[in-house]
Amino acid sequence: MDLSVIESDIERVIVSEVDLQARIKELAAQVDADYEGRDVLLVGVLKGAVMAMADLTRAMQRHLEMDWMAVSSYGSGTKSSGVVRILKDLDRDITGRNVLIVEDIVDSGLTLSWLKSNLESRGAANVDILAILRKPEAAKVEVAVKYVGFDIPTDFVVGYGLDFDEKYRNLPFIGVLAKHMYE
Ligand code: 5GP
Repeated sequence: MDLSVIESDIERVIVSEVDLQARIKELAAQVDADYEGRDVLLVGVLKGAVMAMADLTRAMQRHLEMDWMAVSSYGSGTKSSGVVRILKDLDRDITGRNVLIVEDIVDSGLTLSWLKSNLESRGAANVDILAILRKPEAAKVEVAVKYVGFDIPTDFVVGYGLDFDEKYRNLPFIGVLAKHMYE
């Protein structure tokens, strides 16, 4: 969906489609290089990481496996509840696997630090994290995000998989949601 369709809902575009796609290609090349000679299982966090997973994996030049988890941390509001629940678990055992979590955004870091230790406790050989976006708050918690697309301000953003009340996921860019949409 183009910006012109929902122009007044978006305060400003913070990562354009062109910049997003260019960065995804760089990340894909880095991941390819880092996992050379090892198998890799990419775990996408539904639903936000769908676009990132689709673009990242198509830019990677190797065999890989994908699996998906769904966790809830936010409900339909714009603030983290701090409570993580598994809504959909992995299909396969990950003992001994090299796991790369693919996430849309790391905000407080609560969701990812919980997810990382959850996957480590299942016996994965290693668990690394790729997040398309990172907010400054994330720096305050103990979660090492190995690959970051863009550092962004604390505003509530939508697009490229990120929603507000299930809408805006199909925008090809990242934009700040206008305050009048939720205040
Ligand atoms: P954390 O646990 O790091 O605070 O939050 C992670 C989750 O919160 C993300 O996976 C995402 O679903 C949601 N989230 C955090 N910030 C934003 C935002 O700016 N926009 C949207 N749409 N979701 C966000």
